[in-house]
Amino acid sequence: MIRILTYEEHPSGQAIFDRYLYLAAYVLPFSPEDVLQDDIVDIDGQKIFAGNFHAKSGKSPRRRNDRYKNLLKKYKVNSATSTVQQRFMEDQLLAAKLIWHINYDLYAYLYQVDNRGIEPLTVPPMHRQNLRKLLTGKMDVLENVFNDIGKIKDKDSKILQDDVFRYAAFSQNGHAVKMLASMDVNVCPYCNRLYTMTITKDGGKSRPQFDHYKNKSEYPYLAVSLMNLIPSCGLCNQSKQDKDTEVLYPYADEMGLDAVFCTKPETGLHYLTGNRNAIEEFSVALDIVNGNLSQKLEQKILHSDDVFNLTELYNKHKEYILYLFWKNYIFTDEYLQELCREFSDAFQSLEDAKSMMYLMDIAHEHWGKRSLGKLTHDIDMEINGA
Ligand SMILES: [Zn+2]
Repeated sequence: MIRILTYEEHPSGQAIFDRYLYLAAYVLPFSPEDVLQDDIVDIDGQKIFAGNFHAKSGKSPRRRNDRYKNLLKKYKVNSATSTVQQRFMEDQLLAAKLIWHINYDLYAYLYQVDNRGIEPLTVPPMHRQNLRKLLTGKMDVLENVFNDIGKIKDKDSKILQDDVFRYAAFSQNGHAVKMLASMDVNVCPYCNRLYTMTITKDGGKSRPQFDHYKNKSEYPYLAVSLMNLIPSCGLCNQSKQDKDTEVLYPYADEMGLDAVFCTKPETGLHYLTGNRNAIEEFSVALDIVNGNLSQKLEQKILHSDDVFNLTELYNKHKEYILYLFWKNYIFTDEYLQELCREFSDAFQSLEDAKSMMYLMDIAHEHWGKRSLGKLTHDIDMEINGA
């Protein structure tokens, strides 16, 4: 429900993009020439490009465990003693064959050859422009792709997730954590409740999860697409799981001022002065206040509320809301103005005094910085008007 910045808008956008491409080249069974193309990425001060990728990244061929060996055998990929370079090629050929078998439309999108009915015997040339679109394209670009290619069946999806679009390898790689750190999403954009800062230290880390906006079970070919990865809290990621309900897309949509959290009196009005015995007097509701919203956006707002249980969860924050009423009862605008006069060195404006009172800046652009930023804003608006 809170908008987050795309890599193109982000002050650290280049670092996010570089880290992403590097990681994609590292985990995907495609050549670095196809993934990086002409880009030179800066990874911790090292300039890395397709020509020096293997040497600089230390990427090694996939370990041949039994499952992998069986796949090579099943799809008739020669796995006799081979050089490192040959093993990379075998991995790429296996990926092409798997895609060819599972979904020819996806194959035709990613590779430049038209061989419907004839299984590829060598690594087909990649359609680099399409690969780049799939990896870094915005949601409208991805939408064209998934509308054309459609959903993938359970068993096939697992194969694509494990052996082609290797999300597990992607998300477990240390560079994913560094990418999340650059993205700097402090609070979950779906619920605006739980903090999602990224920290790393020896032997441990704390980081947001990646929610797949289009779920990776049905759309495994979007499993590592940058614009399909939403840094989010574990609870929201869990709530959404494999549901294909269209919720607000944090890189483009938000509730903003179109839908607001507000209180509804149930049995009394003492809560309006923050009386702490009055917690049962009211409930919290989500109101769509913009009557001119497009039906699509309104649906997304309602679906987000439903999928992430927002109204129910926000009703668990009634004590916090009582404190907001209590503060406003005591710290009237007149009183805050008096404070501004008395401490002119501490406050530039009435908003500053209010930020001190709420322990956060409630301006729209700051909602994503603090837990419950939007709720605090909305209740303030309910009490003091827009
Ligand atoms: Zn969340």
